Amino acid sequence: MQLPYIPADIPFTGDQKAWLAGFLAGINTRIAMPAGAPPAGVPVGGTATVDAAAPGGIPLQIVYGSQTGTAEWLSEQAEALAREHGFEPVRCDLDALDITALSAVRRLLVITSTYGEGDMPDNAELFWQALAAPDAPRLDGLYFGVLALGDSIYDGFCQAGKNIDARLAELGGTRVVDRVDCDVDFEDPATDWIGRAVPALAAVDVGAIEVGADEVGPAPLSVAGPAAAAATTAPTGPAPRTKSPWTRKNPYSATVVANTLLSAPTSDKEVRHLEISLGDSGIDYQPGDGISISPVNDDELVDRIITRLGVSPDTVITDRKVERSLREALTEHYEISTPSKYLLDYIAQRSQDAELIHLTSNGDREALDAWMWGKDVLDLLDVDPTLTISPEELIAELRPLQHRVYSISSSPLAHAGTVHITMATVRYRSGDRQRGGVCSTFLADRRPEGTQVGVFISPNNSFRLPPDDTKTIMIGPGTGIAPFRSFLHERAARGARGGNWLFFGDRRRAHDHIYADEIDGFVTDGILDRLDLAFSRDQEHKIYVQDRIREQGADLFGWLSDGAHVYVCGDATRMARDVDTALRDVVAEHGGLSDDAAQDYLDDLKRAKRYLRDVY
Ligand code: NAP
Repeated sequence: MQLPYIPADIPFTGDQKAWLAGFLAGINTRIAMPAGAPPAGVPVGGTATVDAAAPGGIPLQIVYGSQTGTAEWLSEQAEALAREHGFEPVRCDLDALDITALSAVRRLLVITSTYGEGDMPDNAELFWQALAAPDAPRLDGLYFGVLALGDSIYDGFCQAGKNIDARLAELGGTRVVDRVDCDVDFEDPATDWIGRAVPALAAVDVGAIEVGADEVGPAPLSVAGPAAAAATTAPTGPAPRTKSPWTRKNPYSATVVANTLLSAPTSDKEVRHLEISLGDSGIDYQPGDGISISPVNDDELVDRIITRLGVSPDTVITDRKVERSLREALTEHYEISTPSKYLLDYIAQRSQDAELIHLTSNGDREALDAWMWGKDVLDLLDVDPTLTISPEELIAELRPLQHRVYSISSSPLAHAGTVHITMATVRYRSGDRQRGGVCSTFLADRRPEGTQVGVFISPNNSFRLPPDDTKTIMIGPGTGIAPFRSFLHERAARGARGGNWLFFGDRRRAHDHIYADEIDGFVTDGILDRLDLAFSRDQEHKIYVQDRIREQGADLFGWLSDGAHVYVCGDATRMARDVDTALRDVVAEHGGLSDDAAQDYLDDLKRAKRYLRDVY
C-alpha cells in the first residue's frame, strides 16, 4: 500500500512534518488512496484518507459547511461541549470528510449553512456530490444530527442542511436529534440544539437510544487530504481563536478614524475606504477575516413608516417581552429595507390588492422577485392604503436587523490597532424614492470620522494565507480586492517572499483603479511579482479578470504546478463562476487534460485547501 503524499508546501515545521509522516506510517494499514490521483507533474497533493481513532474518550466526528465562518464557529462550541461530555471530538469541514470512510463513523454532528438560493457552502460541495451519488456507501451504523443555518429571505432556506439530513437518513443513518433550521437570529436555537445533540450522541451506546443491530466498533474519524489532517489531528493547526467578548449580541463600540472616497468623484460607483479603531477592545484578527458591522436604519424611512402606521413617534411597544419605543425598534432592531416573507404573506392575505394576491399564490417566483425588487417595508404597507396595522402586528412580521460582514482589507501587522474596510455604497432609485444599502449608506452617510460603530470579528479560517514561501494567485475584481490588500500588506510586513500574483479589475481605469498607488508600490517593492488588470469599460468590448487569466494561462498553470494557492473574492453569481470556468480551461489546455480531468484537478486543489473563495 502506498503511503500518503505530504506536499512540500504543507504549513508545518520540520518537526511537525516528521510527526505527521510517522503518524501516517504508523497507521498505513488503514489508509485508502482514492482512485484517480493527480497525473504526474500536477502537484496538487494526493488525497489520503486517514482513520485516526481518538486516543481517549468517545470518538465523535463534528463537521461543518461554512461560507462566512458561522457554522465553523458553532462547530467549535459543539466541540467544547462534546469534550465536557467525555467525547474525543475531531472537527473538520465537510469536504475534508471522506465518504468511503463515513460508513465506519458512528457518531456525527453536521452543522452547515446554506449558500445563496439553496446551494452547499464552498467547503461542503465535494462532500455533497459524493453523498448524493448513487454509489454512496450505506450508513447503517451511523448516529447523526444536523443543524441547518440559513436565511428565510431565500427560497432555499436551510436547503443544504435539509439535503444532508435527508440523505444521511436515506442511506441508513439514525437521526438522534431532529434537525433544526436556524434563521439569521441563530444563536439561541443553535445553542439549544447543540445542548441536546451532544448528550443524545453520548447516549448512543448506553442504551438510552435504540442502537442498530450492526455494531461497527469504535468510530474511526476520517479526514481527506493532508491539509485537513493537519487541521484536525496534527500537533498544531490553525491558530486557536481566543474567545472574544464582542459578539453579535454585544458588539464593540468602535471609533471610525477615516472614511474617505476611494473611487474618483467622476466614477459612476462610490467605493469608500474606512478605518475603524479597535481601541481597548482587545480584538485581534487575521488576514482573511471579516468584520461585522451593526447598522442603524435610515431615520427618514423610520419616520415614514411610523406616519403610515398613523401612531405617535413616541409610541411604546412590547417587543418580544421588552418595552421600547416604536422608533427605537424600527431604527435599531428590525429590517425595514428588505421586507420579510412573513410580511409579504401577511399583507397579501389582508390586502385587497389583486396583483399581490395573484403573485403570492401562483408560485411564479421570478415574477414575485421582479415585483419585490427595490421594495421596502413602507412600499408593502402602501400596497393597500386602506389597511390598518398596529405597531405590534407589524413588528411581529419583521426580521431582526442583521449585522453586515465586510472582508477586512487591512493587515494586523501593517495596520496595528485598526481594521480597514473597502466598501461599495449601494444607491438606487425605486418608485419615487432614493434608496440605498442598509449598512453601506449607514457607513457612507452617517458615520464620519469620530463617530461610533458596533463591530465584532467574523473569523474565516477557510480563507488564510499559505506559508510564507508559497506562491499566491489572488483574483479580486471590484471590492473583491479587499482581502488581497490585507494579504499583500501582511506578506510585505512579514517579509514573506513566496511570490504573489494579483488579478484586479473594475469598470474604468481613470475612475475605479482603487488603491492604485499602493498596488504600484507593491510592484516596485517586489511584493507583487505579477499584476494583471482588466478594466471592463475602457474599450468597446468587455474585458474581465477571466480574460486575463486565459491570456496568462501558461504561466498561471506554471504557478499552480509550483504549488500556488488560488484565492477568489467578490461577486459569487457571475464573476466567481466565470473565473472557475476560466481556471478549468487553463488547466485543461496547459496541463493537457480533458475537461473532466481538469475539473478533478480543481477539485483536488479545493480538497488540498489551495483553491479558496470568499464570495457571495
Ligand atoms: P462591480 O462594479 O460590480 O464589478 C467590478 C468589475 O467586475 C467590473 O469591471 C465589472 O464589469 C466586472 N464584472 C462584471 N461581471 C463580471 C463577470 N461575470 N466576471 C468578471 N468580472 C465581471 O464591483 P463591486 O461593486 O466592487 O462589487 C463586487 C461584488 O463583490 C459585489 O457583489 C460585492 O457584494 C461582492 N463582494 C464580495 C465579497 C465577499 O464575498 N467577501 C467582498 C467584496 C465584494 P462591468 O460592470 O463593466 O460588467
